Amino acid sequence: MATKLLLTFAICRLIVTVGLTLEPTELLRLGLTVDPVDVESASVDFGLMTKVEPLAVLRPSSAEDVAQLVKAAYESSHGFTVSARGHGHSINGQAQTGTGVVVQMSGVRSSGKPSVWGGDMYVDVWGGELWIDVLKSCLEYGLAPKSWTDYLYLSVGGTLSNAGISGQAFHHGPQISNVHELDVVTGKGELMTCSKEQNPELFHAVLGGLGQFGIITRARISLEPAPQRVRWIRVLYSNFSAFTKDQEYLISLHGNQKFDYVEGFVIVDEGLINNWRSSFFSPRNPVKISSLGSNNNGGVLYCLEITKNYHESTAETIDQEIEALLKKLNFIPTSVFTTDLPYVDFLDRVHKAELKLRSKGMWEVPHPWLNLFVPKSKIADFDRGVFKGILGNKTSGPILIYPMNKNKWDDKSSVVTPDEDVFYLVAFLRSALDNGEETQSLEYLTNQNRLILKFCDEDGIKVKQYLPHYKTQSEWKEHYGSKWDRFQRMKMKFDPRHILASGQNIFTPTFLSSSKMASW
Ligand code: FAD
Repeated sequence: MATKLLLTFAICRLIVTVGLTLEPTELLRLGLTVDPVDVESASVDFGLMTKVEPLAVLRPSSAEDVAQLVKAAYESSHGFTVSARGHGHSINGQAQTGTGVVVQMSGVRSSGKPSVWGGDMYVDVWGGELWIDVLKSCLEYGLAPKSWTDYLYLSVGGTLSNAGISGQAFHHGPQISNVHELDVVTGKGELMTCSKEQNPELFHAVLGGLGQFGIITRARISLEPAPQRVRWIRVLYSNFSAFTKDQEYLISLHGNQKFDYVEGFVIVDEGLINNWRSSFFSPRNPVKISSLGSNNNGGVLYCLEITKNYHESTAETIDQEIEALLKKLNFIPTSVFTTDLPYVDFLDRVHKAELKLRSKGMWEVPHPWLNLFVPKSKIADFDRGVFKGILGNKTSGPILIYPMNKNKWDDKSSVVTPDEDVFYLVAFLRSALDNGEETQSLEYLTNQNRLILKFCDEDGIKVKQYLPHYKTQSEWKEHYGSKWDRFQRMKMKFDPRHILASGQNIFTPTFLSSSKMASW
């Protein structure tokens, strides 16, 4: 009873502060809460580098609840911000807001199970659904989405607001290329269905739109028959140009005679072999980096990671198919590491590593991650200046590198990628530790990120940030380049008061840029 009274009091205060037109009972019915546990959890993210407390948290049970709150924000006299939060796996506070309400989309009361439409090969899912749960629901029908992220405890709305990429993207495109339809609550509080045919402007703007144009409440995702098993192979290179040549060759293949997943990573120190993505190298297969020729190469090795999916009924031919594909590659012959596992275990591989890191207290630490799209024509310069230069011989986390085909990305979406047919993702997925080692400190790693960006700038390497983070609008303008005008126009059209996803720091909410700022 006392808690309810306190909650009602807090909500009344909120109503006065932001000029809400809704009654307290209505707000409670929508799922608004100021419970300190909810507020605390919405004030941090995976990056653990920014903490911003929202005024309240909404735990909606339907798209209509979300629409009603956003409409109230749009119509309120003072104005307040609304930020959707999926699983909070951003790095720089992108799902946070200090001037309004966080809508907690994942783990909410009754979002309903994903609806699989086997005949039409798609699934309808709530925007806050985690990909792991989408996968489990689809597998009940022998189906699965086609394009993934490496880690599945991310929300559908969160990854579709960025792109959603993994080793399947070279063939299927990013996750945003595999969506048929969306339900979106715009910044005016309107609930709209959109697709390539219906409200196409909104559809394309929202995909990769960093939450700027609306809150995704439903996504219709394309499916394929789920493979049963995966042959997972890693091979090593000491020569960067042989490595990238092979990666580029593999992503140029079509039809059945290709791998289903192409990624890779950089190894600059032996410690990496034991890190969270490398548990693959078994104790029976110890990897001695120094014995593989890395000494002649500034201590750097490159690991190509590929998979071939298969069905148990075709298991006899899988070995020959893989052998034929491997024959065309130029890796170090003694460096082939192979494992075989169920499809779901492969897709969920990073979660195992998460549990391991959690048990050592090494998951909830600051993550100064930097993700870059690097044009193919400059990837060798990047190797020289960054992997063999700036990084030194300690990395503090995995560094992924893999190429993608631009023709699998819809240029109408909001994402920006380099202006070349092939570009690489280079992901510095580092964890900062407070263990007295300078090279693992947050300050050191953040500074190294700065040096990497500076090097690219000075060397004319036209990178684009993936999961971008900028502080000023002029940096955002530069990031979007020729797409900026449209991005801004769509913002005016679908979120004219700039109340959505203010944690991205792209647009200032109009009520903050006016004299009303004083009332905060
Ligand atoms: P949040 O952090 O909650 O939100 C991110 C942004 O999206 C915010 O601006 C938020 O307002 C907005 N948003 C959230 N939900 C919605 C919605 N329903 N509608 C509209 N906007 C919304 N990315 C890849 O592409 N490939 C990977 O392999 C990959 N691996 C990762 C592994 C780990 C361990 C982590 C922490 C991140 C990884 N990411 C990867 C990045 C990830 O895709 C993004 O951080 C994504 O935003 C996380 O989803 P989330 O649900 O946690 O989003």
